[in-house]
Amino acid sequence: MTADFDTIVNLAKKRGFVFQSSEIYGGLRSAYDYGPLGTAMLRNVKDQWWRSMVQLRDDMVGIDSAIIQAPQVWKASGHLASFSDPLVECTNCNNRFRLDKLDNVDQCPSCGKRDTFTEPREFHLMFKTNMGPVESDDNVVYLRPETAQGIFINFENVRRTSRMRLPFGIAQIGKSFRNEITPGQFVFRTREFEQMEMEFFCRPEEADTWFEYWLEERHRWYLDLGMTPDNLRLRPHESDELAHYAAACSDVEFDFPWGWDELEGIANRTDFDLRQHAEHSGEDLTYFEEGDERFYPYVIEPAAGATRTTFAFLLDAYREEEVEGETRTVLKLDHRLAPIKAAVLPLSKKPELTEVTQRVASELRQTYDIEVDITQSIGRRYRRQDEIGTPFCITVDFDSLDDHQVTVRDRDTMAQDRIAMDKVSAYLADRFAG
Ligand code: ATP
Repeated sequence: MTADFDTIVNLAKKRGFVFQSSEIYGGLRSAYDYGPLGTAMLRNVKDQWWRSMVQLRDDMVGIDSAIIQAPQVWKASGHLASFSDPLVECTNCNNRFRLDKLDNVDQCPSCGKRDTFTEPREFHLMFKTNMGPVESDDNVVYLRPETAQGIFINFENVRRTSRMRLPFGIAQIGKSFRNEITPGQFVFRTREFEQMEMEFFCRPEEADTWFEYWLEERHRWYLDLGMTPDNLRLRPHESDELAHYAAACSDVEFDFPWGWDELEGIANRTDFDLRQHAEHSGEDLTYFEEGDERFYPYVIEPAAGATRTTFAFLLDAYREEEVEGETRTVLKLDHRLAPIKAAVLPLSKKPELTEVTQRVASELRQTYDIEVDITQSIGRRYRRQDEIGTPFCITVDFDSLDDHQVTVRDRDTMAQDRIAMDKVSAYLADRFAG
């Protein structure tokens, strides 16, 4: 069970996590802009992924490839021929749906009429545009629908320049674009989104072992960042669900307000992509080590959505608690994901306190994303910080002027500690480490 959908969407808008895109023009459907808090949190999710996938490992490197690639890439990968979803249209209300996502293929979920769907047709999901000043068939290019192909086409560049030996992985975070038939459920499915993908190249005979390894590793990543175990599960794909390139695939699923749905897919892509690119480009993309035959490595791919995952962490962290007869809303986000790590709150706007507040704040700012909030009563300020998931509030009061101490309040326990002003940074470091 996670938080109610509308509650989180409203909180996200009210507090500046996510705004409707182009709102002043009436909004662009299913496009979103991340506000100050959402930007910070999304960045934290991506940083944590990068830290665990790249920084902490000696078998991984990162890249950042172009969104617009040679159109041949999409021919070789199979996207041009088959990256489509089955589209049906209701002949009564004219709404369009993705057939494979309908609960009941005989009844329109919009108008409720039965047997009104057209025959399904394959709807292509890649955004198409033209490169250069003239619009012609010769300069058609596509916005990438996944970041993975940027990794495959750079396999040999990265192997050579980074001198990587199997098994090794190449990781990438970036925007992808899909002209989804039915975007929706807030930022869960949008036409522009961010992915965190990694291609792990290994010997074919070791692929099954690495597949199991990455399933476990990726499941653990969400749990380590505080996701509730009951809200997370691994679901192996049925054989008729597998993509054309995959020998095996499992999804990491989250219990969204509408039910279990995908956060991340982990697939054994075999040597499909490298073989295809070798064939289409004419380049040799096999792997070679002294004393061995040349061969195409197999690839295990954990492919996650950064924007979708950020939404899941928000849903998972939301709590309403009874405190002294009142309801307090709190986001129990892991401190690594919380957009603001500490808020510095002077008890009054008097200039003496402002000066001390600025001193405390400027020291903390060297290490942490912090906020100084001087408006409204202290109780309301605590409530606002709870609602955006700030782990600690630091209150500067008139006693602080004499005893050089401040009060630190813990978001989760609401316990308060009186701490020497110059020890606050060390205190936070200690708490965050534990
Ligand atoms: P679906 O079947 O739901 O369309 P998919 O299985 O095609 O998704 P993948 O190609 O495996 O998705 O993409 C990897 C990850 O990228 C997904 O698990 C998801 O987190 C994210 N993702 C894919 N499409 C979108 C989208 N339209 N909006 C937001 N995130 C997305």
